[in-house]
Amino acid sequence: AIGTERKPDWLKIKLSANENFKELKSMMRTKTLHTVCEEAKCPNISECWANRTATFMILGDICTRACRFCAVKTGLPTELDLQEPERVADASVQMGLRHVVVTSVARDDLADGGASIFAETILAIRRKLPLAGVEVLIPDFMGNEQSLQIVMDANPDILNHNIETVERLSDRVRSKAKYRRSLELLARSKAMKPSIPTKSSIMIGVGEEWDEILQAMDDLRAVGCNILTIGQYLQPTPNHLTVKQYYTPEQFAQLKEEGIKRGFDHVESGPLVRSSYHAHEQVKSARQS
Ligand code: SF4
Ligand code: SF4
Repeated sequence: AIGTERKPDWLKIKLSANENFKELKSMMRTKTLHTVCEEAKCPNISECWANRTATFMILGDICTRACRFCAVKTGLPTELDLQEPERVADASVQMGLRHVVVTSVARDDLADGGASIFAETILAIRRKLPLAGVEVLIPDFMGNEQSLQIVMDANPDILNHNIETVERLSDRVRSKAKYRRSLELLARSKAMKPSIPTKSSIMIGVGEEWDEILQAMDDLRAVGCNILTIGQYLQPTPNHLTVKQYYTPEQFAQLKEEGIKRGFDHVESGPLVRSSYHAHEQVKSARQS
């Protein structure tokens, strides 16, 4: 097995801090919001922020689940912050964002799983920043259809829900989430609002076979999923799942071709690709299609 201490060269990133990025970074320091970009130490932060794309994490930073790839803290979350939607919208205005991604921890302690706060956040951003694209990356709401409807009724530009991995490894890698339930969520979103593009993501390198990745693509296309992102899994701490394989940039390019062949409108596939990477371009291509 390849150890995580020996990362291939293509995973070593150069942090080029351009002016746009520095400006936004100092702005965020004065805010009490969490961006996934900063907290997950996302390797794409300077590029994304320069392109005026950022991902906010709402509903707190403590998750009711404990997925084996994820560095977010697990526990019982504290109360809800009802001002959060407005604060996310204000920060988006101040950062001059063109594409806002909103995601959250899983809040299985809440009756609607946090769906109404997602909806209010979408509406608040629309009100204050009407030209920005709004993408939501939602949890599975334990399969609750009403929660999904609440989010869909707020008309996000992209509805994103990650299957994360191939079917065989799903129960091992994710906590409580189910592969089939995630596919069903994507199918239901399409049925509720056919014009809203759906999106999903797979991280590879956790022990899947090549054919299983292709099967996951077929499963996503079968529920009408429009946009796919594929990235390399990297172990956040020694307590998390170990990396079973590093895929080469050529293999990622091959997977992109396989995705396009299957009819996805947009595929981002690369070692450092994360769910919201190049998201602003996906809105464009989704709106054009
Ligand atoms: Fe932030 Fe997502 Fe870009 Fe990473 S890929 S910097 S999390 S917007
Ligand atoms: Fe991390 Fe999401 Fe899993 Fe919670 S549900 S542990 S935030 S991946």
